[in-house]
Formats: sequence, C-alpha cells, structure tokens
Amino acid sequence: MSRRISSDRKFAYYLGGALIAIGLLLFLSVFVTGALNFGNFDDFDGQARSSGIRAIGGMILMMVGGFVRTVGARGAAGSGLVLDPERARRDLEPFSRQGGGMLKDALDEADIALGSARDHEPLVMIRCRACSTLNEEDSKFCQECGQPV
Ligand SMILES: [Zn+2]
Repeated sequence: MSRRISSDRKFAYYLGGALIAIGLLLFLSVFVTGALNFGNFDDFDGQARSSGIRAIGGMILMMVGGFVRTVGARGAAGSGLVLDPERARRDLEPFSRQGGGMLKDALDEADIALGSARDHEPLVMIRCRACSTLNEEDSKFCQECGQPV
C-alpha cells in the first residue's frame, strides 16, 4: 500500500493551483481594464467582447484548475472521478492516516494536561485524634466519631 502521494499527483495539485491563479488574474484584469478605459466609448463593442471572453475564460480556468487540484490531492478514485471504493481508500490513505495521527496527538496532549492537573492537587487527609480515622482535608468533624478534627 502506498503511504505517500505520488509525484504526478503532486504535480497535478500544483498545476491546478497555477491554473486557478491564472484564471483569477484573467478574471480580475477585466475590472482593471474596465476601470482604465472608463469613459472611452470609441471601441465599446470590441472592449465588451474582449472583457466577456476574458471573464468567462478566467472562470473556466479557475473551475478546471480547482478540478485538477482536487484530483491531484485526492487521486482519481479518491476525488470521485473514478468510481472505485477500493482505490479511493488507497488514494485517501495518506489523509486518513494523518487524521488518525492528529487525533492521537490531541489525545496525548489531553492526557498530559490531565496528568499534570492531578500532580498539582495532592490529596491531603486528616487523621482524627480520637479514633484515627482518615478524614477529608476540609472536614471540621470526624466522619466516624463526630469529634472536631
Ligand atoms: Zn474520629
């Protein structure tokens, strides 16, 4: 069983990220040129067409990039591109293992915290002078014979 994400999946992940970035820039450039050319209506139709193509192209690039990124991160089966539960489990194995590891870390930390809290509060008992019964630290009278402690 592969415990690491293969290099081609990593490549797809970063490629998807790059596509998202390019798409976003293309999409935002529409607003930048729109602001720069504000009030210039000489070639309004041409500008509008170019802006529309860039806006739609940018959105498509971002969608494709997001898809490529998901497939890269979770694998073909893990992302639902291929319906194969057995392969999906294998593709997502690094993530499942990481999830289990983080849960274990949290439990370890909680255990340490509980342990140190116990260490800071040692249990103190008071022995009754009359009958030698051990009583709670804050009790005023012996729970066995009723004498003041
Ligand atoms: Zn007593």
